[in-house]
Amino acid sequence: SYLLLFRDQPILFFQGLIPAIAANSVNPDTIFANNEMSLRDTEIYGFDYDYTLAFYSRNLHTLIFNIARDILITNHRYPEGLLNYEYIPNFAVRGLHYDVQKALLMKIDAFHYIQLGTVYRGLHPVPDEEVIAMYDGCHVPLENMSDFYGKSSHGHTMKQFMDIFSLPEMSLLSCVNDFFMRHNIDYEPVHLYKDVKEAIRDVHVKGIMYRAVEADIEKYICYGEQSHAVLKKLSEHGKKMFLITNSPFDFVDRGMNYIVGKDWQDLFDVVIVQADKPGFFNDRRKPFRRVTDKGALLWDRIHKLEKGKIYKQGNLYEFLRLTGWTGSKVLYFGDHIYSDLADLTLKHGWRTGAIIPELRKEIKIMNTEQYVHMMAWLQALTGLIEQMQVRRLIKTFRSHETKDIFNPQFGSLFRTYHNPTYFSRRLSRFADIYMASISCLLNYDFQHTFFPRRTPLQHESPFWPEHSPAGISVTSQLSRTKAESD
Ligand SMILES: [Mg+2]
Repeated sequence: SYLLLFRDQPILFFQGLIPAIAANSVNPDTIFANNEMSLRDTEIYGFDYDYTLAFYSRNLHTLIFNIARDILITNHRYPEGLLNYEYIPNFAVRGLHYDVQKALLMKIDAFHYIQLGTVYRGLHPVPDEEVIAMYDGCHVPLENMSDFYGKSSHGHTMKQFMDIFSLPEMSLLSCVNDFFMRHNIDYEPVHLYKDVKEAIRDVHVKGIMYRAVEADIEKYICYGEQSHAVLKKLSEHGKKMFLITNSPFDFVDRGMNYIVGKDWQDLFDVVIVQADKPGFFNDRRKPFRRVTDKGALLWDRIHKLEKGKIYKQGNLYEFLRLTGWTGSKVLYFGDHIYSDLADLTLKHGWRTGAIIPELRKEIKIMNTEQYVHMMAWLQALTGLIEQMQVRRLIKTFRSHETKDIFNPQFGSLFRTYHNPTYFSRRLSRFADIYMASISCLLNYDFQHTFFPRRTPLQHESPFWPEHSPAGISVTSQLSRTKAESD
């Protein structure tokens, strides 16, 4: 049994109060469905490349961080003291928002509320009272939120970091902020944000990252075999396949050689590089252009997209016209929920699969006895508090332990307290299915239909008996406790 304080009076809770939450562990290799979808209807499989077919090791983040930090010092005249900072692997999580003007990194929920305890200035948390004073509460108005693609352009003060490549960017921003504050240097956060963004972009655009990865591929690419196995399985089942990536051909070619082998192009019916997603899905004006294996650009007009040839740029409207691959027979996989999947779902009617590598770690944590126990307590306490209408009890419990177990600074990618995060909300809107890695497909046959679990809406009563005991036992125990304390 446990001892808790209520209005400074000790109350004894018995173990029996805790509802039995079945510790059914979730297999991290499951494919989860937001929307019903059958692989039976899927004839054509499309893929993004980075973090979808090629998964990178942590070494790549360290590399991006170091190069961008050095660019800041060399090209933007930032202090050399920054050399003392190194990439902090477990500092940030994907999906966080950054207030460009206030230089604050934070987690925001599906209703635009900032989760207190997850607001960081530099490398240190900002006290709750200060956050509340700055934002006049915790709510961020729609016009200040990041734009549709997560960007902070056109007067939006928030930027959302949705890319896995943005982990080193968040880490670098936080380190530079930390340095400036530590040394009492007066700086303009807007300039800092822009400079860091440019430095990170240069790492990609100027080809520094591509060359480094190509030179030492084993150091940077992991998970190769599974992607190969998936592509082989699809090909054996007569599925059509294509690749649409923003990366340049040389880089993709080197990686795919490593993952699949020299004849990787045999697996794909169409290969598009430097596609410039999300522009690719929206801008009808950009024509496709042939690229030779030597990287030379040809000027002839493209009348069909041929197997074994490489195309760059182009746009989806042209792609649909040339291939006839329209509607729900096409399933496209990507790790960037906005750039890869949003437009396809909203405008073009392809089915979408999100690759969320973080799922594996979070599911493993959720399967631990410690987590199951903690959730059971939290459920029971929440029920109790709803009855008693006091908030104090739950505050400490929910704000620390349940968050820290995932990431000490920002918690889970998917939840803030009870609510889904802003990331989760958009994941459930834009992805028909989601999974930790493309290899999860190996566990299903191509006749499989995915059904989203029917979770009760707030006004619906739960159908399944295992949901109800929690409510009942809390209420009955509560009435007894109340009677005693009255
Ligand atoms: Mg990607």
